[in-house]
Amino acid sequence: MPLLIKSTSFTKKRQVIAVTSRHGIQAIETAYARRLRSAVDAVFADRLAEILDGYESGILSIDSAQNMATAFQQEAERQLSFLAQDATFQWFQRIDKFAANKFTSSIKNAMGIDAQSILSQSIYDELLETGIAQNVSLIRNLSPEAYQDVRKALLADFQGVGLPGDAKSLSGAIKDILGSTKRRASVIARDQTAKMNSQMAQERQVDAGVTYYQWRTAGDQRVVGNPSGLYPKGNAKHMNHFDRNGKIFAWNDPPSDGHPGEAIMCRCIALAVLNPRKMKIQEG
Ligand SMILES: [Zn+2]
Repeated sequence: MPLLIKSTSFTKKRQVIAVTSRHGIQAIETAYARRLRSAVDAVFADRLAEILDGYESGILSIDSAQNMATAFQQEAERQLSFLAQDATFQWFQRIDKFAANKFTSSIKNAMGIDAQSILSQSIYDELLETGIAQNVSLIRNLSPEAYQDVRKALLADFQGVGLPGDAKSLSGAIKDILGSTKRRASVIARDQTAKMNSQMAQERQVDAGVTYYQWRTAGDQRVVGNPSGLYPKGNAKHMNHFDRNGKIFAWNDPPSDGHPGEAIMCRCIALAVLNPRKMKIQEG
């Protein structure tokens, strides 16, 4: 399969499109999600059980159960921050290696040159710092979200009103909270992996002198806007990406919902339009 395609609108200017894919990113996302879910288990499961047991056995009044939830919330935030530092650092290393390989091999295939030398250390440093800070903050925030739900469930049980969701018992409600906290952790893993991958692509391309990219969707039924797919209509958060497939965009002029990979759950990627005369690297 040829990896070099000539873009019809740019052929005359000797521009080519560096074809790449998201293939392989799934494994990074899955490993990260698994790690975050197990951190959630380690941090929440025993403490939630302790509150539930204390309250249900009558050892804890509703007030002391609520206070315990508040104290545990702060402890859990600290512990999550600690676990997240390590998990996000490893995640970042993997995704950086992945994105760098995709970038250099796509340029090699399109232009026959080795782009290894233009991988800038400052881009790595900047993304490492901002990426880890952002992820740690999102992960730490799982705690206030979870314990707010715990306090609500305790109060609803105490007042004898309906429990949150469709839980039939307090222990069921607590179990639901643990489950939804794990699901939130998976969403963070999925969303942040796509965003970091897309940000790396953008920074590296712009740094290499790439001005334009070609939009590429995942090409399946889940692409928003695909008339015969699952989501034929776009919305404000995630516009019609099906229509953008194959079109050329400028890095300095993003669509209103962002470059590929920036809209929530977006799996699109940006294929660099390479103009050898404008790039930092030269052929031969
Ligand atoms: Zn998309």
